Amino acid sequence: MLWKGRRQSDNVEDERSDSGGGGGFGGGSPGQFRIPIGGRTGGGGSILLVVLVVLAGWYFGFDPSQILGSGEGGGVLPGGGGQITDNSGGQDDGAGTPASDEMKQFVATVLAETEETWTGIFQSQGLKYEDPKLVLFSGQIRSACGSASTAAGPFYCPGDHKVYLDTTFFQQLDQQFGASGDFAQAYVIAHEVGHHVQNLTGILPKFNQMRQSMGEAEANQMSVRIELQADCFAGVWAHFTAQKGILEQGDIEEALNAAKQIGDDTLQKKMQGYVVPESFNHGTSQQRQTWLARGYKSGKLSDCNTLTGPV
Ligand SMILES: [Zn+2]
Repeated sequence: MLWKGRRQSDNVEDERSDSGGGGGFGGGSPGQFRIPIGGRTGGGGSILLVVLVVLAGWYFGFDPSQILGSGEGGGVLPGGGGQITDNSGGQDDGAGTPASDEMKQFVATVLAETEETWTGIFQSQGLKYEDPKLVLFSGQIRSACGSASTAAGPFYCPGDHKVYLDTTFFQQLDQQFGASGDFAQAYVIAHEVGHHVQNLTGILPKFNQMRQSMGEAEANQMSVRIELQADCFAGVWAHFTAQKGILEQGDIEEALNAAKQIGDDTLQKKMQGYVVPESFNHGTSQQRQTWLARGYKSGKLSDCNTLTGPV
């Protein structure tokens, strides 16, 4: 990605030097919401469909009032535990080193690109996009959704509208998961921003509300749909970013490969040697690639309806 020299967002909060301790960072309320890259637990489910129809209608009606009213209180997503457990974790990417500064600049640039794209998309619907914050941390961080460690992977907290990212995850993505390249990283950021879009449009609050009365299996299935939509939104972002002429050859392939490498089936095979489909909560490699590609191809939100029909 030809990102250098482009605008960097000032919505990046660098907590790398003092994360790991409790101090300073406010929030710390209950309501676990995290979006681990991997996941587990599950079963089957069916009432889901009815619920999804309601959800889809609600979403694709694109009611502005939902935008304003959403996002309070944090919610709960399945797979509370960090799934990427046996990573070596904790390497320090000390803030201030040239490498990490470049990483920060990259993250801030990608974030700026997402701000631009989503502001435009929202405007075209007569809506106002609200920029999320992106918190860089190392080791451990406290969010409005509770504490999280690097092992949980990047996540979005609807309670404080912030994306949390330990950039050592990118090393892990490369070395452990075999997803290298800057656009693989950009995809991860864009996916998390996709959750923010879902939060603004009311999808996440609704999901979190509904899942309280769901069994684990149903919640997992619904989670897959939510995650695939975030992938599709990342694709939509990539579509508009490509139009700016700043993608390089192989960028999209990097993103698609990342989507493949962090698919539930691929991750489980790698981590435990077998798959438990009922426990999937992010989608298979195939699904993740499909939805990312779909968003990328058309750039249309209407092609990101993962909430009804087969995924
Ligand atoms: Zn996600």
